[in-house]
Amino acid sequence: MSLQPANIKDREIKKEILEVIKKWDTIIIHRHERPDPDAIGSQCGLAEIIKNTFPMKQVFTAGSSTGDLSFLAEMNPPVKEDYENALVIVTDTANVKRIDDKNYALGKKWIKIDHHPLDDSYGESEWVNTGASSCSEMIADLWLTFPDELKMNTEAARLLYGGIVGDTNRFLYEATSSYTMQVAAELMKFSFSASALNNRMNVIKPPVAKLMGYVLENFSVSNEGVGHIIITQQTLNQLNIEDKDTNGIVSLPGSIEGVKSWGVFVQQTDRHYRCRLRSKGPIINEIAKQHDGGGHPLASGANARNEDEIDQILDEMKEISKNWTPPKQ
Ligand code: AMP
Repeated sequence: MSLQPANIKDREIKKEILEVIKKWDTIIIHRHERPDPDAIGSQCGLAEIIKNTFPMKQVFTAGSSTGDLSFLAEMNPPVKEDYENALVIVTDTANVKRIDDKNYALGKKWIKIDHHPLDDSYGESEWVNTGASSCSEMIADLWLTFPDELKMNTEAARLLYGGIVGDTNRFLYEATSSYTMQVAAELMKFSFSASALNNRMNVIKPPVAKLMGYVLENFSVSNEGVGHIIITQQTLNQLNIEDKDTNGIVSLPGSIEGVKSWGVFVQQTDRHYRCRLRSKGPIINEIAKQHDGGGHPLASGANARNEDEIDQILDEMKEISKNWTPPKQ
């Protein structure tokens, strides 16, 4: 099987990572906190491939419980002693601060595999491909680069496909390339049901449906095309939802006419706001970085101390959005 030329890219670092994986008997895979389908897909998909290829190796997956995403996978957590002679691989995590489960530091060697902009280097081997739609696409690409040395199975294919669907919002976002589609096509050759998985990923809990109504009702859009909604602790309590449930509504404002970029600001229990910034074109991650955050050019996260800082973020978004026009179709 050969998919040219995208999987030629980064061949050396992919080879290095494969050789390191071969050498270690215990491998512990971490991902970022507040995991999304791509974090879980890349972490657990890689674990499945390694277990399937090297049945004698011990492979663990570390991090908090996957909660509502447990239909994708559950963790197989290591104990502290497992790190004594372990290789740690961290997927989908741009900076050390966001690695879930701080025991990663106990590992003897680290590898970083990520598709976020490289703001924080870590790991003795680091493979960063900002052109990939998702970290799950990168893990599938690792397999497609060495199809005779790594063995894919149905479970890994399901997880990686789910990760790609999650991070591309069903192949909708700009980061979806022709190679993303090729990779998805290869994964779909395994016998999981892509439509059943897509349907499961689309399910929202009734309180989240109520939150959608709240967002659509209260969302405002500026003349510059910057939309925003503030969700206070009081609203979260009234709707009986938690911060993590806001995952289900972040992309929603993107379909409202005239919205170029937007922010969903969720108040936390310590009163500061988690800022979830999204854009159709204007580059927002530089703004996120100025406010204790970071992320992708069109999907970033930050933190605001109070509503004044939210106003500041919105002003900065207006500045970069006002002259932006949608590209030709
Ligand atoms: P979220 O809104 O949490 O889904 O995050 C969107 C993107 O921004 C993800 O790729 C995150 O990795 C990144 N991100 C979110 N919060 C932060 C943060 N505090 N620092 C750096 N990156 C972040």
